[in-house]
Amino acid sequence: MLELLDNEYDVIVAGAGPAGSSVARFCAEKGLKVLAVEKRQEIGSPKRCGEGLSRSAVERMGIDINKSWAIHTIKGAAAYAPNGNKVVVDFDGPEGWVVERKVFDKHLAKLATDAGAKIITKTEIADVRRDTGSVAVILKHEGDTRELKCKIVAACDGVESRTARILGLNTTIPLIDIASAVQFEMTGIDIDPERIELYFGNEIAPGGYAWIFPKGENTANIGIGVRRPLSKKLALDYLKDFIQKREGLRKGSIIEVNAGGVPVGGLMENMIEDNLIVVGDAAHQVNPIHGGGIPEAYVAGRIAADIIKKAVEKGDYSKDTLSEYNKRWWEERGKKLKKLWELRKVVEKLTDDELNWLSEYLSGDDLVKIARGSGYFKLAKLLMKKPRLVMFAKKLLF
Ligand SMILES: Cc1cc2nc3c(=O)[nH]c(=O)nc-3n(C[C@H](O)[C@H](O)[C@H](O)COP(=O)(O)OP(=O)(O)OC[C@H]3O[C@@H](n4cnc5c(N)ncnc54)[C@H](O)[C@@H]3O)c2cc1C
Repeated sequence: MLELLDNEYDVIVAGAGPAGSSVARFCAEKGLKVLAVEKRQEIGSPKRCGEGLSRSAVERMGIDINKSWAIHTIKGAAAYAPNGNKVVVDFDGPEGWVVERKVFDKHLAKLATDAGAKIITKTEIADVRRDTGSVAVILKHEGDTRELKCKIVAACDGVESRTARILGLNTTIPLIDIASAVQFEMTGIDIDPERIELYFGNEIAPGGYAWIFPKGENTANIGIGVRRPLSKKLALDYLKDFIQKREGLRKGSIIEVNAGGVPVGGLMENMIEDNLIVVGDAAHQVNPIHGGGIPEAYVAGRIAADIIKKAVEKGDYSKDTLSEYNKRWWEERGKKLKKLWELRKVVEKLTDDELNWLSEYLSGDDLVKIARGSGYFKLAKLLMKKPRLVMFAKKLLF
């Protein structure tokens, strides 16, 4: 397979998830010669995702909805406080979709190849090395090895990214900012097929939440994300408990098991080095409140492509030139995500009683606004009512 590749590219992209396909697509649309390298044998599989995508996320990504991957329409959401108090939000029309990532990621990859990018699978970027003015990228496919050259490497290799570190940028995320997530795709269960459900509480999912994302009448992704320093047991044990306590879930069958880490903080001021730009989970570009990273990865990939194009036109791949990526991303997405990171730090300090109390006063619309990075004022005003929470309220306001 490696013999199908040319010797040189403008950009070599590590990973063909949403971030990699975005960088590849938008660079190719600008006339750059791009190769995206994916170590898995099938793009999008195995999924490590609840597969939830809101309408606003799809709009930000700028892609058209396609029934082949947008397999289930969501019309509302229900959030449960630890005592079971339910806060519901319903929308007039489709407010989001549960997608089939195995199809969706391939769709994004095809948008990239349609634009002129080349993608190779079952091939790993095993090493990268700066040469004068360019980068040598060493690919491994089964027993074969090949060295290619490029001007810029885009590290889109997800939460376990190595490429950036090899090129001198430390992307290590603090343990407190990473959620361990486990999920079962289950069928034969009793669910509300029109609403996603989110369950909060320090006994249910410390530092995170449990979710039910319907994929049909009686099928759903049921998962849990917890943060190790705050949890007493493994994420898998929290998930088993969650299912065990609900007869409508316990009676079902598990048809797929998924697990992975989700960066929910640890945003990086600097995401570039000479000849290197880091995008998506590899740069911790995820919503710290709900852990959604698909739209963040795609939008950041588009920004990265703009900067890469400018660098190639200038013939200058230094960090000075690439630093415009930091500036643009922080302006367009970083500030909002940083505020959500602050909010996450507040929410994780609330006791179950305080969460129950808040659920009496916050509406579904309030929760949606907060999760999207606005509407903090009402929450802060509520927190102000309890002396213990005043300092948290101030953190949200300033
Ligand atoms: C359990 C779970 C549930 C989630 N639920 C949601 C959700 O409902 N909605 C949402 O928006 N987000 C969700 N996320 C987050 C979302 O999956 C990620 O944010 C998103 O996939 C990030 O895209 P990415 O391209 O940056 O990384 P990835 O999708 O992880 O892609 C990185 C790719 O790089 C490849 N790679 C790694 N190293 C190399 C190498 N050396 N050479 C070649 N290839 C390499 C990997 O194989 C992988 O395919 C969830 C995550 C988890 C773990």
